[in-house]
Amino acid sequence: ADPPVTETTAAAAADGTVTVAGVSVDTRHWIGGRRVTSATTFTDVSPIDGAPLAEIARGGAAEAQAAAAAAAEAFPGWAATPRAERARLLHAIADGVEKRIEELSQVETADNGALLRSHRRGVMPRVAHNFRFFADRLPQLDHDDFETRGHTNHVSWDPAGPCVLITPWNAPLMLATWKVAPALAAGNTVILKPAEWSPLTASLLADIAAEAGLPAGVLNVVQGYGAEAGQALVSHPHVRRISFTGSVPTARHIAAAAAANLTPVSLELGGKSPLLVFADADLDLAVELAVEQYDNAGQVCLAATRILVESSVAEEFTERFKTRAAALTQGDSRDAASDLGPTIHPRQLEKIDGFVQRAIAAGARAVVGGGPNTGLGGLYYRPTLLADVAQDSEIVQEEVFGPVLTLQTFDTEDEAIRLANDTRFGLAATIATGSPERAERVTAALVAGTVWVNCFFVRDLRAPFGGSRHSGIGREGGDWSFDFYCDLKNTVTAPNGWTNHG
Ligand code: NAD
Repeated sequence: ADPPVTETTAAAAADGTVTVAGVSVDTRHWIGGRRVTSATTFTDVSPIDGAPLAEIARGGAAEAQAAAAAAAEAFPGWAATPRAERARLLHAIADGVEKRIEELSQVETADNGALLRSHRRGVMPRVAHNFRFFADRLPQLDHDDFETRGHTNHVSWDPAGPCVLITPWNAPLMLATWKVAPALAAGNTVILKPAEWSPLTASLLADIAAEAGLPAGVLNVVQGYGAEAGQALVSHPHVRRISFTGSVPTARHIAAAAAANLTPVSLELGGKSPLLVFADADLDLAVELAVEQYDNAGQVCLAATRILVESSVAEEFTERFKTRAAALTQGDSRDAASDLGPTIHPRQLEKIDGFVQRAIAAGARAVVGGGPNTGLGGLYYRPTLLADVAQDSEIVQEEVFGPVLTLQTFDTEDEAIRLANDTRFGLAATIATGSPERAERVTAALVAGTVWVNCFFVRDLRAPFGGSRHSGIGREGGDWSFDFYCDLKNTVTAPNGWTNHG
């Protein structure tokens, strides 16, 4: 994210902890099994009401160096730990997450403003599942040995070394553990740098991992700004893997830093995904799918923010959408009645409104919304749908990362495909149609890492996840996570085994 809004040199609380939503959270780094302070801090603010939550240790080059050294020192021991023992520890972390689902949910909601009920029911159980899934998955990757002229080939999934994991604020613990779990299962050590707008649950994860008995230095958490702590970590020569989820401009910095050390990088980036609504679709379902794109106040990389509707049903679709969107309740993310909460930060709200006002100035029409929800105070943006937008306009081409959708129409399947593919992104796509043949044809023609047909956001950990074009490089999830986090080794043993020429 951008540079600090509030800078402060105030020290963190004497014991390094603050209480957020009734939960004690350590504001310091976690390096080599110890809590570590920094000379300066930054202020973490709740998007729900703008209240300051904590002064967080502001890491930089020194903390990055300390964490890289700790991760490098812990690596040989962890890599040599039997896979079953590593898996046992990951299950113990999952147990710890499950015991603290309520605390983790409360803290995450206070910190990033996503709905409390989503954290309780979906996100935090999934965090635990991340650890269980990857712990159990690694042994299943073993290939059968095979022979070459009597020689035996054996393929092993060796750990790669210390990994730097850099994550965004829109789903902090979920996206972090999606990287942490496979990296640790594979026998790597980890340095996690959470986003500066949502640093808290990463610190709780460090507590949970320590309680589970994870050895010192295996998981490290460095807090701080991207340009400081993040940049120092991704530039470090000890690092053997960098996994990043975030925006395209940051990805360019990271890829450039990684190039200097030839560190392999995985990049999960932004999107501008389409929702294609064909005239043969169940229109009520299509409207539900469209409204779902306001989840997490639109701060979802996979969101299908470009609604493409076949002209013959466009009017009917728009009317039903308006009715459905009017029924959404925006408000405090802790309130069970809220369907969408605030945006993360004043700067994000400003950015969202900038996109919308420029689009309106260029001729777009706000079918719903079109500005901040001022009745709720600072950070709430009204769910917005913009029509009369040109394909080459900024609002159609650039990721807004807020509750802003565009509406365009098409007359033929070919035109729908052409519009759908005509951005620099390729993360996901959703198709609403009553025709299996059409679904198959359109899916084949779309450039997207994930295609949903008559559904949205169903995610299985066994499936690959990632984007094409500017939506990313590489795939995470299932076995593909291990492709990235392991150094594969092929061992070829002579026909006569252990004697030289016998
Ligand atoms: P961001 O790129 O601004 O920041 C992401 C992380 O990178 C933060 O931890 C930040 O501190 C760090 N960072 C910033 N500059 C850095 C640098 N020079 N070196 C190292 N680290 C640096 O992204 P964001 O605003 O936090 O997140 C929103 C973006 O993330 C959107 O574009 C969204 O689409 C994308 N996203 C993608 C996925 C996916 O899986 N494809 C998932 C969620 C979010």
